[in-house]
Amino acid sequence: MNCKTVLITGASRGIGAACAKLFSEKGYNVVINYNNSEDEALSLCESLENRGYSAKVFKANVCSREEVNSMIDFCIRNFGSIDVLINNAGISQEKLFIDITDEDWDNMMNSNLKSMFYCSQKALEYMISEKKGKIINISSMWGMVGASCEVHYSVAKAGVIGMTKALAKEVGPSNIQVNAVAPGVIQTDMLKGFTEDDLNDLKYETPLMRLGTPEDVAKCVYFLASDDSDFITGQVISPNGGFVI
Ligand code: NAP
Repeated sequence: MNCKTVLITGASRGIGAACAKLFSEKGYNVVINYNNSEDEALSLCESLENRGYSAKVFKANVCSREEVNSMIDFCIRNFGSIDVLINNAGISQEKLFIDITDEDWDNMMNSNLKSMFYCSQKALEYMISEKKGKIINISSMWGMVGASCEVHYSVAKAGVIGMTKALAKEVGPSNIQVNAVAPGVIQTDMLKGFTEDDLNDLKYETPLMRLGTPEDVAKCVYFLASDDSDFITGQVISPNGGFVI
């Protein structure tokens, strides 16, 4: 049985929740972070515990350095380690570039990028002292190629890729791998604003002719957390059905 511990930000729903389930099934202790979706987070945790898995929830806004520090202290206090950090929490917004306000821009950067700075910095205090650890940052294919009407989102997700590459170089000598997963269109609440027609168009633009599932992404994340990827760092894997090649 694996006794490693994973902390997943934004694990109350969507991709984060799928990661929580998969890592639990693989024997990890799991810390489920949420901010607003308390009911979802508690019910996910309860369902994992009912299956005999080891999970805890922690409410923290990942845009707050104080709350992030408390969350990572909680993880280490309860499970004795933080072996894998999945920086998954994020928001999206569709807006014409000319309509993006200062507040929109700052929210986007804080939720998707600065949050990873806070979480990684705190987790690395522990990982560097242990000389091991894995950080997996959730970017987006739009961070690779850019999306119209999502300039601020694309910038934040491109920043995630830049941070992943630079940090991988810096902490590689401490035996810590930092990689990014850049999903394509994945069926979660993040697609709530899309009409049925929009979703069909996206499906037909995808060579594999379907939208992705949170589980498609979780499997990629799990690979990057596992010993099978020990020689992989600073890389971007994009589960996108061929949308971006
Ligand atoms: P989702 O279903 O909307 O879930 C977003 C998660 O992030 C929720 O658990 C939410 O928690 C959490 N979150 C947001 N802001 C937070 C904050 N300030 N502090 C703590 N948690 C926060 O979205 P998803 O599709 O699973 O997205 C997960 C990640 O994948 C995001 O980084 C997203 O950009 C990326 N991604 C998604 C897609 C896609 O098509 N779905 C594609 C590419 C990349 P609460 O509800 O508890 O506040």
